[in-house]
Amino acid sequence: MRMNTNMNMSINTNTNTNMNMSINTNTNMNTNMSMNMNTNTNTNMNMNTNTNILSFSKSEAVELNNLKKLSDAALIEGFKNLILREKRLGDLILLNLQEMNSRRIYAQLGYGSLFEFLVKYFHLSESSAYQRINAMKLIQSIPEARAALVSGETNLSTMAATQGFIRKLESEKKAVLSFQEKKDIFDTVKGKTQKEAQAAFVTLNPTAALPANKEKPLTANHTLLQVTVDQETLQLLQEVKSLLSHEIPDGDLSKILKKISKESVEILKNKKGRSKGSKIQTKHRSSKPCEIKKPSRYIPIETRRLVFQKAQGRCEFIGSDGKRCESHYQLEIDHKLAWSQGGSHDEANLSCLCKVHNTFRTKETHGYWWRDLDR
Ligand SMILES: [Zn+2]
Repeated sequence: MRMNTNMNMSINTNTNTNMNMSINTNTNMNTNMSMNMNTNTNTNMNMNTNTNILSFSKSEAVELNNLKKLSDAALIEGFKNLILREKRLGDLILLNLQEMNSRRIYAQLGYGSLFEFLVKYFHLSESSAYQRINAMKLIQSIPEARAALVSGETNLSTMAATQGFIRKLESEKKAVLSFQEKKDIFDTVKGKTQKEAQAAFVTLNPTAALPANKEKPLTANHTLLQVTVDQETLQLLQEVKSLLSHEIPDGDLSKILKKISKESVEILKNKKGRSKGSKIQTKHRSSKPCEIKKPSRYIPIETRRLVFQKAQGRCEFIGSDGKRCESHYQLEIDHKLAWSQGGSHDEANLSCLCKVHNTFRTKETHGYWWRDLDR
C-alpha cells in the first residue's frame, strides 16, 4: 500500500498552547511526522554567549593584525595550518570527553546525562554535543575508529552518523551488534563523507537509515518535532483519530496528541504510584493474613507515591558542586542505606533518583556501577 498524506494544522487554546503538525507519508512502511508545538514551558535553549571566546594570545593578536599584509600564498598556508590545528583540537576534545565520561564526572556534578552536561555546563550546541557523544561512543566500541580519526581517514560527522546507524540497527534487531558487525559497518564508510556514508547505510539497511527523530526549538514556545513512525503506529494513530472524531472533528493531530498524552500521563502516574489516587496493588498483598510475612524488596505503592511527591517528580541527587539533578527521566526509588545492607523501606531511607544517578550511587554502596551507563 502506498500512501501520500500531508497534514498541516495550528491551534490556540486558553492554556496558551500551540501545536502544528504535518505528516508526510511517502513509503508503504514509514512515515515522517513533524510537529510544531507551542507550550508554556520556557525551555532555556539559549547559549551563553558571555564566554570570552575572542580573546587571543599576544602572538595571535600580532598574527591577526598582519593579516592584510600577507601574500595570497602565505594566507593559504596559514589557513591550512589553522584547519590542522582545529582538527587536532577536535581530536583532543573527543579523547578528553571519553575520559570525562569514563569517570562519570557529569553524574558527580549533578547532571542527568553527558549530553546535558555538555549543553548546560560547557554551552555546546545540542547538535555539536550529540555529534561528539556519538563519535565518542563509536571510538569506545571500535578502537580502530580512534586511529582513523587521528590519521584523518574519517571525520567527526561520518563517525557520529555511523554510531547513529548502529544504534538504530540495534534498536531494530533488539540486540547488541557484535564487535565484528560494527567494525564491518565502520570499514564500509571509512574514508567516505557523511553524505556518501548515508548512501551506504541505505544499501545496508534502508529502515535503520531513515532520518532520526528531531526536536528543534523554533521559539521560546514553539518546538518542531520530526518523528518517523512505522505503518502500525500510523494505523493506530488513524484509529484514535477516528474514535475521537466527535470530540476533535477536524482530526487535528496536534490536539489528538495532546489528548492522548494527557490521558497517558494519568494512567502511567497511577500505574507507577505517582498520583494521589493511586490504588494499592493487591497482587503484592499476602492472601493469607495469618502468614508471617518475609521482608520484601517491594516498596509499598503508598510509600512510593509519598517519595515521588516529596521529590516533586524530579531526581533528588545533589552534585559535588551543589547542583541538583532535577531530571524527570527514568526515575527510580533509591534506598539511601541499600536494601542488601539492611536498609528499610521507611520513607526517610528512600529518595527519588534518575536511572543515571541511581546507578552512579551504587559505586558508593557497592564499589562499582552495576549498570552500563553508556548504552
Ligand atoms: Zn539524576
